[in-house]
Amino acid sequence: MNRELINILLVEDNCRDAELFQDILEMSQESHESQAWNVTHVMRLAEALVQLDRTPVQVILLDLSLPDSQGLQTLVTLREKAPTLPIVVLTGLNDEHLAITAVREGAQDYLVKGLVSGGTITRSMFYAIERKKNEIAMKSCLEQERELREIKSRFISMLSHELRNPLTTILASAHLMEKLSKELSEQKKGEMNRKIKESAGRMNKILDDLLVLWHQESPEPTPFKPSWFDLPQFCQKLVAEFQIQLDHQCSQGTHSIHLIFVSRVKSYPVYLDLNLLEQILTNLLSNAIKYSPNGGKVEFELIADSHQVIFRIQDSGIGIPPWECDRLFTSFYRASNTEGISGTGLGLSIVKNAVEVQGGTIQVNSEVSIGSTFTVTLPFRVNSVLMDPSNCSRPL
Ligand code: ADP
Repeated sequence: MNRELINILLVEDNCRDAELFQDILEMSQESHESQAWNVTHVMRLAEALVQLDRTPVQVILLDLSLPDSQGLQTLVTLREKAPTLPIVVLTGLNDEHLAITAVREGAQDYLVKGLVSGGTITRSMFYAIERKKNEIAMKSCLEQERELREIKSRFISMLSHELRNPLTTILASAHLMEKLSKELSEQKKGEMNRKIKESAGRMNKILDDLLVLWHQESPEPTPFKPSWFDLPQFCQKLVAEFQIQLDHQCSQGTHSIHLIFVSRVKSYPVYLDLNLLEQILTNLLSNAIKYSPNGGKVEFELIADSHQVIFRIQDSGIGIPPWECDRLFTSFYRASNTEGISGTGLGLSIVKNAVEVQGGTIQVNSEVSIGSTFTVTLPFRVNSVLMDPSNCSRPL
């Protein structure tokens, strides 16, 4: 039968006491079939600290009065070094009070020298090990709860801020139109109408994103529903929709973006999920535009070969601090240089999920104040029966 090995670090400067402990442990080992102890004995705190780096230890038996450290400070130093290890304090008959204080300060148990037997030592060690495990599990639960509370409060404040802005625009425009309907020119009314629609659209997008996120976080996997369609044609249609918005922004004197679509293939039937692809490309294109507040070029490149399609979206906007690139795909995360630019931090987590559901990858290369490039690679998942493009289930 394989015995579970428990490594004990015995920190005791009194050689006779140490020997006695080791003898008792050895004797009690005979009555424990499932456990085996391995005792490493040191006499000083400094040696104990070195030993902890050298060998795995499951429990520490600690005398608080050592040549190089006295009293509670011995415990404090060891706990700092090994915060996850259980410690059983060894004490004399006349300093039990100190041992109780040590338990209050984080030791898991104490043993009075001279009053120990094999049974009391082993029971105390197991008790200390289990108690420490529970303590760690409880700490981790509390930490998770704290993180959840923080996420919840950040989420509520982000959501109320992101919804309040467009709502204020809608209310103000509606109010003005009602109050000054006679004085306002038709052009001004048209402008206000457009603002109302745009703001309602923004609110709609936030709610849509939240719904996608909710589905994404549910235990059900995101459905993958591929169909045949012509990829360059789909991309061109999407770019044309963005171009209408950009033309409008340009006529309003807001930032002017030069959006270019480059494709090496004119027509290319693919078997992909249109809905997921739309999520990927609209989020990446709108980010490239949004994070280029001073205008500039946004290039959308499509590369296709027989195994995969690659979408590359490059802008010359604000860029992303390098240490934050990995975290952008986490829901609600926004980089530190986005002040003044609205957003929920949901788009890229939706993109990542839509990419992964299709077995693809996403990469980001970015330099602050130079620009960012997002590259999405999607493999073809072609079912031989559906290889025939005439089976296209949702033609454009
Ligand atoms: P949102 O844009 O709503 O904040 P996203 O999930 O789409 O949320 O993006 C997460 C973060 O990634 C953004 O807040 C921003 O910091 C960064 N980011 C995404 N795309 C770009 C880009 N093209 N240029 C600079 N930063 C970007």
